[in-house]
Amino acid sequence: METCIFCRIVAGEADGHFLYKDQHCSAFLDIDGFNPGHTLVVPNHHVARLADLTPEAGAHVMATALRIASAIRMSNLPSEGFNLFVSDGECAGQEVAHIHLHILPRFSGDGINVGLGRESLVAAPAVLTATAREIAKHMAGGNI
Ligand code: AMP
Ligand code: ZN
Repeated sequence: METCIFCRIVAGEADGHFLYKDQHCSAFLDIDGFNPGHTLVVPNHHVARLADLTPEAGAHVMATALRIASAIRMSNLPSEGFNLFVSDGECAGQEVAHIHLHILPRFSGDGINVGLGRESLVAAPAVLTATAREIAKHMAGGNI
């Protein structure tokens, strides 16, 4: 998938500010990050959506993110905490169709508001029970 910007960065065909790369995943700075050290961890092979990511590849991306968060904590960059997030699908705000995990360092007074933009649902316990059961009964049937 040569037109994918993240595939091109991983292949060295487009600029990327790498801070880590191994056989399976790469990490480079978000070109338009929200705080210093805002990093993206991506699988090296093109994977568009969460549903296409194997559990092993996802676990490796997450393990790498934990190491990067630890490195950021030890660095001279301001970080009192982190937001780790993935946007999966256009409806969720995914702009680059190569799945990536954001590591966003956070500190008090950084001015970022991670609110979801509206009031949360107020669900009755019976609705929560039915929702949990509906998801649980499909747990064995997915790709994980
Ligand atoms: P999203 O798909 O909404 O999770 O976010 C895509 C992220 O990729 C945005 O935060 C962009 O700033 C970032 N981005 C887009 N192009 C590049 C690039 N060439 N190098 C690094 N980051 C990029
Ligand atoms: Zn790609």
